[in-house]
Amino acid sequence: MNLRIPGPTPVPDDILNAGARQMIDHRGPEFQSILSNVTEGLKLVFGTKGDLLILTGSGTSAMESAVVNTLSSGDKVLAISIGVFGTRFADIASVYGVDVQRVNYEFGEAASPSDIATILSQDPEIKAVMVTHNETSTGVTNDIKAIAKIVKEDSNRLLLIDAVSSLGSIPCPVDELGADVVISGSQKGWMVPPGLAMVAMSTRAWEAYEQSNLPKFYLDLGKAKDYLARGQTPWTPAVSVFYALEASLKKILDEGIENVYTRHKSLAEKTRTQVKGLGLELLADERVASNTVTAIRVPDGIDGRQLSKHIRETYNVVLGGGQQSLAGKIVRVAHLGYVEPTEIDDALSALDRGLNDLKSMGSQN
Ligand code: PLP
Repeated sequence: MNLRIPGPTPVPDDILNAGARQMIDHRGPEFQSILSNVTEGLKLVFGTKGDLLILTGSGTSAMESAVVNTLSSGDKVLAISIGVFGTRFADIASVYGVDVQRVNYEFGEAASPSDIATILSQDPEIKAVMVTHNETSTGVTNDIKAIAKIVKEDSNRLLLIDAVSSLGSIPCPVDELGADVVISGSQKGWMVPPGLAMVAMSTRAWEAYEQSNLPKFYLDLGKAKDYLARGQTPWTPAVSVFYALEASLKKILDEGIENVYTRHKSLAEKTRTQVKGLGLELLADERVASNTVTAIRVPDGIDGRQLSKHIRETYNVVLGGGQQSLAGKIVRVAHLGYVEPTEIDDALSALDRGLNDLKSMGSQN
């Protein structure tokens, strides 16, 4: 099966095998060594000398941890949404009683740094900005450097970044950006199974942690930091995913992180070129199109859900679908993590054949 959804992504055999090892004592010396290696490896990829904590949970647990560890009820926060995951980030903060000011863009568009500059200059009470780096639901990457520069003009203002589907595949250099909380999830470009989430915390984020009054227990990053100092996690970790992540980080760092970014960029460009060559339309403007996932408009008269089902059943290729207002209107081809160019060729050929099949079925009715 050619799995082309944007996470969980296919896991290379050597990493899969690394994850299949026998259990160990998660409070013993072997796990301590793995936790230390994985934490140090992640810090290199995140580009941070600050704290890096690993949670057992999916990416959403890391989003929630970003909120509950740095914000307080009633804090005014600007939540920038360009799709489903930006809205989820805002919703999490709302649930906790944060005063969320939402700025929403059309699905397929990127956020405008100048809009953000205007909003922030008009409202000095905004304490934090939440933004998605790479919006997986639409295949759009925000200009995180420009956004970070604007947000951090006031160094006290917090910048919380969801980099779940970018980190490790598209540059998101945490310290260089001056970002305060940056999160990711294991099942994306990291080439490992779901189960772990990563959170980078700046010094400023820890100051905010001291002030934060939101309830937290499992996701309390102060506990994670204390336990990390002892070579442990507060709660039982997903040990097998740690094994896999240790192996995948070695693979990523052996290849060289810059080479990994270049590989993702060229595979994304190849994907977009081939999609256009098939006469299909990309959802996003190419200047903001993602290097990890490509969203393709489904031609009028065809239902994307029916198309994906047909392609899966007939050609053994699994595409991502459209979410919410994009349901049935787009299909998504993921190219993050461990991907051979031939797998993209195969997926796009299946898309082309699937479309032709559906058109000819339609014309026979
Ligand atoms: N943020 C982004 C950008 C994502 O792509 C995802 C998952 O697809 C999430 C957050 C949520 O992660 P999870 O589904 O692991 O909870």
